Parts: sequence; C-alpha cells; structure tokens
Amino acid sequence: MSKKRVLTGYRPTGRLTLGHWFGNLMNMLALQDDYEAYYFVADWHALTSDWADTSGIRKYTEEMVLDWIAAGIDPAKATIYRQSDVPEVAELTMYLSMVTPVTWLERVPSYKEQREQITEKDLSNTGFFMYPLMQAADITIVQGDIVPVGEDQLPHLELTREIARRFNNAYGGLLKEPQAMIAKEGARVPGTDGRKMSKSYGNAIFLSETEEETTKKVMGMMTDPARKLKTDPGDPDICPLHQIHKLVGDAADVAEFDRCCRSAECGCVMHKRKLAEDLNGYLRAFRERRAELAATPGYAWEVLAEGAARVRPAVDELMGNVRRAMHVDAG
Ligand code: SF4
Repeated sequence: MSKKRVLTGYRPTGRLTLGHWFGNLMNMLALQDDYEAYYFVADWHALTSDWADTSGIRKYTEEMVLDWIAAGIDPAKATIYRQSDVPEVAELTMYLSMVTPVTWLERVPSYKEQREQITEKDLSNTGFFMYPLMQAADITIVQGDIVPVGEDQLPHLELTREIARRFNNAYGGLLKEPQAMIAKEGARVPGTDGRKMSKSYGNAIFLSETEEETTKKVMGMMTDPARKLKTDPGDPDICPLHQIHKLVGDAADVAEFDRCCRSAECGCVMHKRKLAEDLNGYLRAFRERRAELAATPGYAWEVLAEGAARVRPAVDELMGNVRRAMHVDAG
C-alpha cells in the first residue's frame, strides 16, 4: 500500500533555534519514516511579512535545509524543495482566489491577531492577506493527504478544505481535501530570559552557533528569580535553565540538581556550567554534521533542485487538469 503524503513547510526567516529542534524538527523526523514526506521551504510565505527586506531569504533557505539534514531529515526519504521552485503555486493561488469569497480570508483568526500583534512590520499588504490562499495552493498542488498542524492552525486547514471543496464543485473533483494531523506538541523551550524561545525576543540559542556562543548564553541565563543567594533554597520548577537541562541532560544529573537546588546545597553557576557542557554535548554531532554539509558548496541547492524535480510530475499533471477544467489551457 502506498504511503500517505504528509506536507509541511517553514518560512526561512532566520536561523533555527533549540525551540525549533524540540518543536518542529522532532516531528519532521518522526514523520519521514511512516509517510511520504514533503518538506518545503516556504520562501514566498516569508515575503508576505518580510517584503520590506528580503535580503536574508536565500541565506536562510540554505541554512534551513542544512539544519534539517544535519538533524536527520534524509533527502532520500523526504522530498525537500523550495516553494518558489514550483512557480505554479502562484498560478494555483490565483485560480483559487476566483472561488474564495473575501470574507473567508477576513475571518481567519490569525490574520487579525497577527495584524494587531506584529507592529514592527507592515502587514497591510495584499500578499499577507492572501497567505491562507497560498497555503491552500501549496497543499493541493502536490495533493497532500495530511498536514500536521497545531490546534491554533486548524482554522487554516479547514479553510483549505473549504476552498478545495468549492473549487471541486465548480470544476470537478480535481483537488484533494487534506486531513489535519494534530502535531504532537513539542516541549516548550524557554529562552535565556525565561520567555518562550524566539529569535525575535533576542533570547534564542541557535542550533548552528558555536559552543563558545552557547556557553556564553547559558552562563547569562535567567534562573529562579527569587533565589538571590546560594544559601537560599531554589525552585527548579520555575527555573528556565532547569527546564532546558531536563531536555538535554542525563536524568540522574538533572534529579541531583533538582535536589541540591531545593536544599540550597548547590549554586546556579555550577548548574549553568553543567548545562553548557551537556547542551554542547547534545548538539555536538548535529553541529559536526552541519559543518561537513556546509563545507560542500551548493549542497543545499542541489538537494532543493532534486526535490523540485521530484514534485514536478505531480504538479504538471494537476495543473494540466486544472487549466483544462477552467478552459485556460493551450487548447
Ligand atoms: S540551582 Fe539550578 S535549578 Fe536551582 S535556581 Fe539555580 S540554576 Fe535553577
């Protein structure tokens, strides 16, 4: 029996962090064995919000591919491609826009939310308004069966299903309605200041940074804010440093720090040194592999070209059918 096709894409807007590692990347790794995995770099989606400065998109595209592969995504198993290498996504977005009422896009909850919350970027552009349509095209153009989503993204996928249904009613059943797979929630990774790890907060530990950089960040990390002196008992449950140690450290070591913190027998500096050592140890194989991959010029672009070639037959077939059904084919 052929495997179902799972599809997921990420915007190349910056280097991947430890938060991505325990969130998206672990999910992607798990899925590539059981599904026909299509993982794409959503560079056009990055344009919708970052149109004013697009200078980093190519660099981050390349870095994202290197991060994925160094983390264990296998290009022989998973098809890794770049959205803009499938220009028909734009064409299908336009066709889908013909059957999609404006009100369907207006009611997407994240649209309003992001317009309100992201104030440092100008999101009043049509491209940002239309990004759920482009997502629908991303998914349907390769006939994706399953899309892993967080609970908050369910309305987007429901919108894709509604658009596909409307298109199918008008032009025949050409588009597959994708199913949502509620992605296993990744561990919540706190940043160095205790807030959620995010590059926009300036509190992120990047996968591809050096051991020295990681150590410096860990040594400056926030701990239990109420613990002022080494002689004060601490609370590891509210300590961001301890939360990261639980993810990367040896269970016995973590338990010992938990104990000695509560009894005020160990200090935060010692714990920071241990986390820096364990975290660097945890990421060492990834970083070595990444450095090897980066040493081959053009490697990421070769992988992307190979991925684009792999999706091409399905795209050609679908778009040929779509154009014919809409009477805009060559005739
Ligand atoms: S000893 Fe460790 S767990 Fe306790 S507050 Fe300091 S860093 Fe956090």
